[in-house]
Amino acid sequence: MSFLFFIFGLIVGSFLNVVVYRFRSGEGGIVTGSSHCRSCRNALGWQDNIPLVSYILLRGRCRQCKAGISLQYPLVEFLTGVSFSFAYFCTSVLYDLSGGILIGIALITSFLFAVMLLIFVYDYKYMEVPMAAIWWGVFFTFLLIMFFDFILEDTFVLFSSHFFLHGMAGLIAFLFFFGMSYYSDERWMGYGDSFIALVIGFFLGPLGTFFAILFAVWSGATVGILLTLTGAKGMKSAIPFGPFLVSGFFVAFYVMAYHPHLMRLFW
Ligand SMILES: [Zn+2]
Repeated sequence: MSFLFFIFGLIVGSFLNVVVYRFRSGEGGIVTGSSHCRSCRNALGWQDNIPLVSYILLRGRCRQCKAGISLQYPLVEFLTGVSFSFAYFCTSVLYDLSGGILIGIALITSFLFAVMLLIFVYDYKYMEVPMAAIWWGVFFTFLLIMFFDFILEDTFVLFSSHFFLHGMAGLIAFLFFFGMSYYSDERWMGYGDSFIALVIGFFLGPLGTFFAILFAVWSGATVGILLTLTGAKGMKSAIPFGPFLVSGFFVAFYVMAYHPHLMRLFW
């Protein structure tokens, strides 16, 4: 089943690539329209459209014009595949679920992961956070939280519910980054980052969010310093912070799932 999730993730990943491209260019609908080479505009046959496999068979070049295909395509496909099987694996290990419910919960978690990857790539490429992705992230998280509060738990107590605790974590994370953006006039981070923090807080809850943000700030600062020292980026040039937040999200989720004792170090 984990392998099926991986395959499904590859397909969703190639869809994400199209979304990233067409969101921006405003070219046609997201679902309609056949895909074509970015270089020679020739339409791609089905055999050149298989996620990951086509890229490897074509050795990263267009069949017709031999122009290089961006590494972004197979990379996003692969990462989406991995994150989908990861979502299934975690769901089956962490919760006592089976059958259709297990698959359903794993799927919603997978979709949330896909949204986070979309934000990662989009912010990395265009230095902008796609707000539609944020609201999808909030929606999927809301579904998961409703499930855990109303289906898994016997009684709903507002102040100890996931809805309340995770909601507060999301709100505080949002306000923290919103404040930083406002205070620094978007020089340290942008308003878009506060919305990513909102989704992270809502999904991970207080402890995981704290860990995710710590990781994002720490890794962001490290990469920023390295880029400045190596001269790859000037002192003033901005680096998008979204990819670091998304990375923090995945690392925190992983740690919470597999190494809860590590999480305790931070508390
Ligand atoms: Zn071509």
